[in-house]
Amino acid sequence: MFLTEQELQRITAFRQELHRYPEVSGDERETAGRVKQALLETCPDELIEALGGHGVAAVYAGAADGPTVLVRAELDGLPIEEISDVPHRSLVSDKGHLCGHDGHMAILLALAAGLAKRGPERGRVVLLFQPAEENGAGAAAVLSDPAFAALRPDLSLSLHNFPGAALGHVLLREGPVNCASRGMKVILRGKTSHASYPEDGIAPTFALGRLLSGLTALGNNAPLGPDYTLVTVTHARLGEPAFGISPGYAEIWATLRTLTDDKMAELVEAAERLAGEEARVTGLQLEISYEDVFRQCFNSPEATAVLNQALADEGVSVESESALLPMKASEDFGLFRTVAPSAMFFLGAGEGHPRLHNPDYDFPDALISIGARIFMRAIRNTLG
Ligand SMILES: [Zn+2]
Ligand SMILES: [Zn+2]
Repeated sequence: MFLTEQELQRITAFRQELHRYPEVSGDERETAGRVKQALLETCPDELIEALGGHGVAAVYAGAADGPTVLVRAELDGLPIEEISDVPHRSLVSDKGHLCGHDGHMAILLALAAGLAKRGPERGRVVLLFQPAEENGAGAAAVLSDPAFAALRPDLSLSLHNFPGAALGHVLLREGPVNCASRGMKVILRGKTSHASYPEDGIAPTFALGRLLSGLTALGNNAPLGPDYTLVTVTHARLGEPAFGISPGYAEIWATLRTLTDDKMAELVEAAERLAGEEARVTGLQLEISYEDVFRQCFNSPEATAVLNQALADEGVSVESESALLPMKASEDFGLFRTVAPSAMFFLGAGEGHPRLHNPDYDFPDALISIGARIFMRAIRNTLG
């Protein structure tokens, strides 16, 4: 390990401090401030703030020209009340670092401390603390921020801790690792009327009923491959809670999920066609909008090879054919592949560990040094 036991302890304490003060997507102002203070102690060559929101990036440059290697962590916590009794549990009610992004940040701060001692020989390392991963907005916001042009990577790396896999054991595969998904909001507007004269209004009742089953039926239960589609209705609403009114309004929220971006385009078209037909036959106005849009996350062969070499050099056990990959869940890191080869690995958080987004989840601090060693080896192998 490139840090002393004492340095690691400081970073572990910092992780627990971040854990106490979670902030949700797009609202990571104080977290970004804490990260910035910690980064300044490592004297980066450049420090960029307010990237795509509250994003922060630190740049460590070598003396010679060379490629830019970007390593990404996430700033955001979740709007979930933490119920664990760890001493560093969240001090903010209804919010918790329950996806381990505090741990991912600590791993990047360990890299910062290592790079402060010895920078890369050539090229640049960019440590990116990205906002708003949980709602899928952050990666897109960072990549489209004009300040990102100066940070443009030649290789992007990331990790996610992974409860369900043995502690410290790595899952890494080339190709798809996370599904594409998006939240589809369908609004149907008709006309209210007296409940005794429903024929005077236009009620979306039957259209809502048919869409609840019709949208769900667009999911095909295929194995998790190129043909896979899943539609999960997550919320629906009809009219108002009153007995005297025949409703004039309905709303359906559904999460569409596929393994590939191409299949997502097909699924979106099918879902919109279905909603359009229902609105048309009933004479309803239709509005469709999307939130939480995630592209497929796909590990490039070049970037996966860099990680595999680092894992071999560090003697970390890795599994490339795991039933746990690809994941049905989504991850916005996939968008970095539009800029340069990218890959992320999954670092086991323990088989019996509470799952991500569970209220009793806490990032295992033992993973800080393992994650940092793997990234640092990939950096040294690439940039010296
Ligand atoms: Zn999460
Ligand atoms: Zn996460």
